[in-house]
Amino acid sequence: MYSYQAPRRDMQFVIHEVLGCAQALAKMGRSEVDHDTINAIMEEGAKFAEGVLSPLNAEGDQTPAYWDNGVVRVPDSFKTAHQQFCSGGWSGIGADPQYGGQGLPIQARVATDEMFVSAAMAWRMCTGLTDGAMQTLISHGSAEQIQGTVPHLVSGVWTGTMCLTEPHSGTDLGLMRTRAAVDTQSPGQYRISGTKIYISWGEHELSENIVHLVLAKLPDSPAGTRGISLFLVPKKIDGQANGVRCLSVEHKMGIHGSPTCVMQFDEAKATLIGQVNGGLACMFTMMNHARLGVGLQGLGLSERAWQAASQYARDRLQGRSMTQAALPGTSADPIIVHPDVRRMLLTLRSLTEGSRLLLYYVYQLQDRELSGDSAPESTRAGEWVAFLVPIVKAFLTDSAMETTSLAIQVHGGAGFIRATGVEQYLRDAKITAIYEGTNGIQALDLVGRKLAANGGRILQSLLLELGQVLQAPCPPSLQPLATRLAELLQEWQALSVHLLQAAATNPDELGAAGADYLAFCGYTLLAWSWLRAGLVAEAALQSGQEPEFYAGKVAVARFYAQRLLPRTLAHAAAVRAGAASMMDPAGLAG
Ligand SMILES: Cc1cc2nc3c(=O)[nH]c(=O)nc-3n(C[C@H](O)[C@H](O)[C@H](O)COP(=O)(O)OP(=O)(O)OC[C@H]3O[C@@H](n4cnc5c(N)ncnc54)[C@H](O)[C@@H]3O)c2cc1C
Repeated sequence: MYSYQAPRRDMQFVIHEVLGCAQALAKMGRSEVDHDTINAIMEEGAKFAEGVLSPLNAEGDQTPAYWDNGVVRVPDSFKTAHQQFCSGGWSGIGADPQYGGQGLPIQARVATDEMFVSAAMAWRMCTGLTDGAMQTLISHGSAEQIQGTVPHLVSGVWTGTMCLTEPHSGTDLGLMRTRAAVDTQSPGQYRISGTKIYISWGEHELSENIVHLVLAKLPDSPAGTRGISLFLVPKKIDGQANGVRCLSVEHKMGIHGSPTCVMQFDEAKATLIGQVNGGLACMFTMMNHARLGVGLQGLGLSERAWQAASQYARDRLQGRSMTQAALPGTSADPIIVHPDVRRMLLTLRSLTEGSRLLLYYVYQLQDRELSGDSAPESTRAGEWVAFLVPIVKAFLTDSAMETTSLAIQVHGGAGFIRATGVEQYLRDAKITAIYEGTNGIQALDLVGRKLAANGGRILQSLLLELGQVLQAPCPPSLQPLATRLAELLQEWQALSVHLLQAAATNPDELGAAGADYLAFCGYTLLAWSWLRAGLVAEAALQSGQEPEFYAGKVAVARFYAQRLLPRTLAHAAAVRAGAASMMDPAGLAG
């Protein structure tokens, strides 16, 4: 069983050296959040993640949440950790000070978010969903809803959920049957009735109260998604139980510590959030927050997988190096000497650190979107975030499926055995590719909505931005990566035009190409990220600092360029191949 070690130095490299977060924050008028402050927050977060949360990961997996006559039980340690999390101020770290929070920008706290997810993903989901509920209420709630709810969510004495899914309505929310009716006894109030399934942390005893953000349909509302409204449904109102209860908790493949609940609403008292029939637009605030958060889960799991695999490969002795014995006095060398094990480890490392470089950049853009120093810059940052959300969500979680599987492979038989704890990472990772919109739906969002938005100008401006890195002088070590990135940015443009033209005559072309197009974008964005990181590392090497650390970054950038980037060729070819063979009825007949 591996305990989690927060990768402080790697995180500092991304935050300070590649992204220059403190300088970016100073430009936004947040100079008080300086380099030392960010490091101090990171250090406190690391202590909490390593000391308090890390043991919960295996405990939650081995002692799954369960239903006990209407009450949902999780290990006691989960409750203690929640209390410590709240008393330590973590529950309100990003929230506006007017509601009791600390108002810390995202780029200053993203590292601690990653640590909490890596250390105990199932536990972290509860407070992660609460953050999303808080943001949705602040963006769309009435003054009364905000004042009456948000300070409790900030302090952590209440938590939040999102209730969308129903047995016959998952991806297609337009099919939902949960009903809302005006409460004739109480002006401005509603009553909600229906069943929601798969509700994460729908019921538990970590907090005094739970507020559910529930999608439901009012009578005579338009059919489909245009007729959905969003409601705030507390578990308790003034200490009295509302008409909402948990009917059961699912038994599932992973994230055992997170209760996945069937929730029954029987004439539950509710208030409307936002406009009648405007529910989906409100919920998108929560979903966009959650989709980046799921990308973060992918990164957190990849980091965990990388830590376990790299440690094991250094310790496990099997076989001899084909060139020179690494441990001549012993009967075998550590498996890290073998090229195939190094292939797996470097794939793990380049995807994990590449995911961090990309995701932290997107969070930096989000800060700019929310508090930019000039309006056009903020708007543009917001457009890029919207474009990048489906890529981050799907690519980082698909990568997590690969990294967590590779970590098992590096362990050989020991990886398949429960005692090492590595197989849990793979089981936990699978859900990240499914919830918050499956990765297939992310691909459709990218090619069907984001690509053509604003006449394609968002992609144009993003490609120009990505191309900036090619203006910098490039050392020979990184030249192959730079050359390939230049080609890929052109190919991205050409591929997009090709796809939109093909889709003009056959709409199936979008769905047929989506997953490959998204993967192409993901690998190209990681190439851009690795080039940026490599340039910073090369510059540091010239000044003689921490040679092992920086040489490692350059080496991984080179590995990524030579061994993973060729995957873009296959994805581009698949996009260009079109839908015909996929939609040929003969392929799936019978
Ligand atoms: C552990 C867990 C926790 C969850 N937590 C929550 C939660 O807190 N709140 C909540 O509301 N929900 C939650 N969910 C639900 C989750 O978001 C849904 O399971 C997910 O959105 C997929 O919906 P579905 O299961 O109905 O699959 P379906 O919609 O039936 O999809 C099945 C397959 O068909 C594909 N597909 C469907 N429609 C299309 C289409 N139009 N085009 C192309 N492909 C399509 C999908 O990509 C998928 O591969 C959770 C689920 C699980 C398992």
